[in-house]
Amino acid sequence: MKKKLFFFGIDSATWDLIVPWAKAGKLPGFWKLLKQGSTLDLRSTMPPITPVAWPTAMTGVSPAVHGFYDFYRLDASRQITVNLASELSHAFFWDILSRAGKKIAVCNLPITYPFKKVNGIMISGLMTPGIKADFIKPKSLKPEFLKRFPKFHFAPGTKVSKNDPKSYELRFKENLEDARETARVAKWLFAKDDWDLFAVNFMAVDHVQHFFWEFMDQPNSPYHDAILKVYQIVDQYLLEVLTKYSDQYQIMIFSDHGAGKLEKTVFLNHWLREKGYLYFKNTPLVLMKRLLTNLGFNPEKLIGLASKLGLVRKAGRIKMQTRNRFLNKLILSYADLDWHKTRAYSFGMYGGIFLTQKNKKLLTEILTALRQDFKKELTFVDSSENIYQTKVLPKTIPNIQFLLKEGAIVSTNIYAFSGNKLFTDPITNKSGEHRINGILGLYPKTDLKVTKPCLEDITPTILRFFNEPVPDYCLGQAIIDKAESLSIDEIEI
Ligand SMILES: [Zn+2]
Repeated sequence: MKKKLFFFGIDSATWDLIVPWAKAGKLPGFWKLLKQGSTLDLRSTMPPITPVAWPTAMTGVSPAVHGFYDFYRLDASRQITVNLASELSHAFFWDILSRAGKKIAVCNLPITYPFKKVNGIMISGLMTPGIKADFIKPKSLKPEFLKRFPKFHFAPGTKVSKNDPKSYELRFKENLEDARETARVAKWLFAKDDWDLFAVNFMAVDHVQHFFWEFMDQPNSPYHDAILKVYQIVDQYLLEVLTKYSDQYQIMIFSDHGAGKLEKTVFLNHWLREKGYLYFKNTPLVLMKRLLTNLGFNPEKLIGLASKLGLVRKAGRIKMQTRNRFLNKLILSYADLDWHKTRAYSFGMYGGIFLTQKNKKLLTEILTALRQDFKKELTFVDSSENIYQTKVLPKTIPNIQFLLKEGAIVSTNIYAFSGNKLFTDPITNKSGEHRINGILGLYPKTDLKVTKPCLEDITPTILRFFNEPVPDYCLGQAIIDKAESLSIDEIEI
C-alpha cells in the first residue's frame, strides 16, 4: 500500500459506458484500470445528484445530516437560495488531513466554494460564482493561475435549444475544452509540490451526458460520439496518471453517481394540486400565470419569446437573477402558493415531497396515493426517515422521496410548476440523467473489505488510508484496511 493518495474524480462516470468502450479498445486508461486495478459500483446518495452526493463523499455524513437536497433550497420566506459549501458543518476529508500536517492539493471538486485554507493549494469547482470569486487559495497564486488559464470555467455551459443547432455545437466544444483544461490545470498543480493527497475532478463527463445522450442512438448524428470523445480526453490523463504516478500514489477513481437515458419530466406539483394538498393564491396575477402555464408557456418559451421581442438579451447570456426576476413576473413560483392551505409541495430536481407540518397520517396518505397513481412509473418511493434511518430530518430534506423509470425527473426551481401536463418531454432538453450507481476504482489492485461500498464510505476510507482517526459522526466504513497492509519497514518500533 502506498503512502500517498491520488483522488481522480469523474463526475457522473458510469461503468455502463466505460466497460464496453474499454473492451472495444477505445479507453486504454480505463482498460488498464479494469484489468489491473480493483473496480466496484459505488452507491450514490438518495437523490443521486451532485450537490447531495459530493458533500456526503467529502464529509462521510448522509444528506439527513448535512442537509443538502439540491443545488438550491427554499429559505424561510420561500425564496430559492443556493446551498453553499460554507453551510456544511462537518469537515471535508482534506481539512482533517490538512490539520494532521498532510500536504494537500484539491482541484475542481464540486460544492466546495467558499472554502477554508488548506495546508497546500485548493481550487473550488462547480457552483463557484466565477473567476472574480476567491476560488483559489493561497490567494497569491491567483495571478499566475489566471495568466496560465485565462479562459478557465468551473464547468461547461448548460443551455441547448432544439431550434438552435449552434447551441449544440457550442456546448460540445465547451465540453471537450473543459475536459482538456481540467487535465492541464491538474498537471500544473501536481507539479507544484510533493503532495500527500492530490484530488482532481472532471465535470465535463456529467455535462456532456446530460445533453448528448440521445445522440448515442443516432449513428448519423455529428454528435453520435460526443460523450465518448469527452471520456477519451479524461482517459488519456487517467492512463498517464496510472502509468506515471502509481509507484508513489494509491490512485482512487471515483464518480458521485452514474448516468443513463432521460425520457421525461414530471411536474408533481400539479398532481399535489389535483389531490388537494397544494393550493395557489387566488389573485388575478396568479390566475393569469396559471392560464399562461395551461397554454403551454414554460420558462424556456417565455425567454425565447422575450429575446425575440428584444425584452431581454439572448437566452444563455443573461444572468440567472435577471432571468428569474423576469420569469417570476410571468410564471408560477413558490411565492404564488397559498401557504396557509398548502399541506405538501414538491421541490428540487428530484421532486421530493415536503410536508408543511409534521403529520404521520398525511405522510402515509401521500405515500399510498403515490404508489397507486404512479404504479407504472415508480421504481422506488419511501419516507426520508426510512431512507436515512433517522427520526430527525433537517427542514431542507423532503419527507418523501422517489425515483422514476428512465430517470424521469422533476425540474427544479423556476420550472417547478411550468408543465401543463403531469409528464412532458424533458423541458431543459436534457436527454441523460443520473443513476444510483457511480464508479469506484483502486489502482494498484487493493484488498477490499467491503463489496458494496456507498458514498458515506469514501471519507472513512481516505482517512484510514492515512492512518488518521475516523470521526465518530462518519456513517460509512473504510473499504480498505491500511493497518493490515503496512509493510515491516513502515511500522515504527
Ligand atoms: Zn454529479
